[in-house]
Order: sequence, then structure tokens, then C-alpha cells
Amino acid sequence: MDDNIVLVVHGGAGSIKAEYHNDAREGVLGAIEAGWSILESGGSSLDAVQVAVRHMEDYYYFNAGRGSVMTEDGTIEMDAMIVDGTTKRIGGVLGVSRIKNPIDLSRLVMDKSFHVVFAGEGAERFGEENGMELIDPEELVTDRVRERLRRYLEEKKNYGDYIKPNQDPERRDKYGTVGAVAIDADGRLASATSTGGVLGKKVGRVGDTPLFGCGTYADDEIAVSATGVGEFIIRGNLALDIKMELRNSSTSEEASMKSLQKMKDQFDGSAGVIVVTRDKGWNASKNTKDLIYAVRTKDMTRDFTQDFE
Ligand code: ASP
Repeated sequence: MDDNIVLVVHGGAGSIKAEYHNDAREGVLGAIEAGWSILESGGSSLDAVQVAVRHMEDYYYFNAGRGSVMTEDGTIEMDAMIVDGTTKRIGGVLGVSRIKNPIDLSRLVMDKSFHVVFAGEGAERFGEENGMELIDPEELVTDRVRERLRRYLEEKKNYGDYIKPNQDPERRDKYGTVGAVAIDADGRLASATSTGGVLGKKVGRVGDTPLFGCGTYADDEIAVSATGVGEFIIRGNLALDIKMELRNSSTSEEASMKSLQKMKDQFDGSAGVIVVTRDKGWNASKNTKDLIYAVRTKDMTRDFTQDFE
């Protein structure tokens, strides 16, 4: 097996209460296990990140697939993107609600369509035409999310039209988007991200996740997946900014921290990123209190709970 194989996954940034550590840990380690078995047997980074993200979409805890947060209207609108860095093949979907695994639909877009990104009903129709089952969005809603929306709508009465994430510590502290980045035995890089967006968002709002170079990016040098307040990640062009900073940094961690700091200084923007590079290592970095992540290399497995030891 190639020595450089790496898989990093995240389950969101923010501040995670100790009582949730085990649930989140179980989710990211399950994703690592699923993705690693592909890399270990010589499979592609592209397949590995898809499988890892699918695992977290199915896991109830994260804000993606089952467990996605809801719009202020109580609907589900999910975004996802997958990128094969070497060939720059991309597939993305925005605002889908009747799809169990938006990352699989993204992969279908990448594999079966000339188009790169599909939105809403058209995305769902494309999935159905290509053999994907359409589900009732209610199947994706958990009691926990329903309760969080109820509290949000209650709270909103004190703020007006929309509570900006920075106005509300409760929401600022919870971004449960999932993502994965990997490099395989052939040195190919890939990235995948999937999200329900931000709690109480307006119908039709799109975040950073399905925007290439913002929340998701990969080429033959670097793969990035981000989580945090999408509006700031887009304005900071975060993933691409990390790529640019990499040129003047000796490690990928240094590059990530420079970009995150810039975003903080400019917009007070909160985010976390996972990054794998061809030559400058991997990292899981954040400007929030915590980042839920796990990593596996040939020599070790590590997860975010070890940062608390
Ligand atoms: N970045 C996501 C979005 O703004 C939210 C998250 O990371 O949880 O859609």
C-alpha cells in the first residue's frame, strides 16, 4: 500500500457539548472506516470520499441527509458537491429535498451528465431518470431538528426577519455539515461535502457547499471541504484561498490558518476546514471552538475527542 494514503472527514464546526462527543465520534469514525476500506484495497479517493460522506448523511446526528436542518418554512433543502481533483470532474446539487443521499446524486451528475450542477426539482428529476428513488422529505427529519426549528422560530420574534448567525450564539455554535477529503495510492485527490444548510434559512438560500472553490474544492495539488457560515465562506472564497496561501506556506495547516484568520478579520466569519495536499500534508483547522473530525493514515487513526485529552 502507498504510504501517502490519507482520509480526513468532518462533521461540522462550532462548539460541541461534551454530552454529544460520543455520538459525533461514532459518526466520523464510521465514515473513516467505510472510506478507508476502499483506499486500503487500492480504490480511488473519489469513491472513498463519496462513501464516507454517504455514511454521515445516513447517520442521524449530522446536518446532512437524515438529520438535515430545516428552512424557516419547515422544509428540507440540501446542497452537496463531489470533485475528482485529477480530472476536475465535478457534480453538485442545490436545494434538493426528496433525495436520501445528495452526495450520490452529485456523483450521478458527475458521471452521467455534461452539466456540472443541478438545482431543485430538475436535480430530483435527473436522479429519478437515472434510477434514483425519490423519498418523502419527512423521512429525513429528526425530532431533534424539529425541536431546534421550534426554538429558532420562537427566538426569531426578538430579532426580526432573520437571525444572522453572528447574532445568536446558539446557532453560531452549530454547523453540522459533513465532508471528506482523500488522497489515494495513485496520488489522486478528491473532495465531497453535503449539508442541510443553516437552521431557519430562507427558502431558496444556497450555501458554500455546492459552490466550487468555496466549501468544496479539489485539483491535483489540494482537496478541501469546509463547514461554517456559508455566506462568509463564499465571500472569503475559502477553499480557493487556502490553495493560494499554500504557495507561500510550508504546511497545509499554515495555509488553512491564514485563510481562516483572514475570514475572521474581514467578516467575523466562523468556519472549519479539512485539507489534504499532495506535498504539504493534511490538516483539520478551525477558527471556531471545535471541529468534529477524524483522520486515518497508514500509521494512525485520530479523532477530535483526542484534542480534549
Ligand atoms: N456551510 C453550511 C452552509 O452554510 C453550514 C454548515 O457548515 O453546517 O450551508
